[in-house]
Amino acid sequence: MKRKIVIALGGNALGNTLAEQMVAVKSTEKAIVDLIEQGNDVIISHGNGPQVGMINSAMTEFHKTNKKYSICPMSVCVAMSQGYIGYDLQNSIREELLNRNINKGVSTIITQVEVDPNDSAFDNPTKPIGSFMTKEEADSIIKEGKKVIEDSGRGYRRVVASPKPIGIVEVETIKTLVESGQVVIACGGGGIPVVSEGNHLKGVGAVIDKDYASCVLAKAIDADCFIILTAVEQVAINFGKENEKWLGEVSTKEMRQYVEEGHFAPGSMKPKVEAGIEFADSKEGRYSLITLLEKAKDGIEGKTGTKIYK
Ligand code: ADP
Ligand code: MG
Repeated sequence: MKRKIVIALGGNALGNTLAEQMVAVKSTEKAIVDLIEQGNDVIISHGNGPQVGMINSAMTEFHKTNKKYSICPMSVCVAMSQGYIGYDLQNSIREELLNRNINKGVSTIITQVEVDPNDSAFDNPTKPIGSFMTKEEADSIIKEGKKVIEDSGRGYRRVVASPKPIGIVEVETIKTLVESGQVVIACGGGGIPVVSEGNHLKGVGAVIDKDYASCVLAKAIDADCFIILTAVEQVAINFGKENEKWLGEVSTKEMRQYVEEGHFAPGSMKPKVEAGIEFADSKEGRYSLITLLEKAKDGIEGKTGTKIYK
């Protein structure tokens, strides 16, 4: 049965360096092309935690030695991360498709994701990113209106907000490509966060969670299935404790209960579980799956992973 599948790749799946990323996408492409070969429409999104940190640090260092260049805004760093990660992904998926004699275009859409300027996350930026700064450097960027915290005695660090995604600006473009049988990579790093000012979209200093953004994407393109590929094969309750229990098929109602009981860590598993619940609940027949990258095919076949259904 042909399905429309959104696959969200974790930052872990992509490695920490350029070289690691090249290797990581090699195994990623196999799992993705397996699904395409089965006749499914596949739409790919990905995280950018390590990568956006690297870009932001690099641009900040550059500014320190070349003062005439201003610090690169976070929204631009997210755009850069979409570009180079998308480049690696589209290149390796293309190659794997050609190796299997499948003739399909693969492209990356630089994706902007709208956020609410009144999102309470802006009043409470919690995500430290980039390099450590001296007090002086911190003061100079505070003057530019940026928020900084002292990070555990190690120096000053910029913190960014992580607002919730409300809509994908390029959604019609993505839909058009999917409908014509193309493979699309979109919403990288959660999308470039923008706020709407009339006809103008203004980039904001934030990093959207890719799990939430991918859920918005999956709903918008009317996907049947939302797969989150990460560093664990299944989701657990009592994670890391003696009574740890790995979850197979779980209803959204049961999963919601586990969220309330605090089983999932906020910066890592909780966004995945919440996004998975939201997608599964959004329409009859939809389900979400959280599993290891290498197990994507087995997961789709119902052999492993944590499946969330309504
Ligand atoms: P990604 O880069 O794929 O977004 P994250 O590191 O953000 O990955 O989240 C996945 C990690 O969440 C797992 O590797 C695991 O260490 C952690 N984790 C936290 N709570 C749980 C849980 N209840 N069950 C499984 N993994 C969990
Ligand atoms: Mg994550």
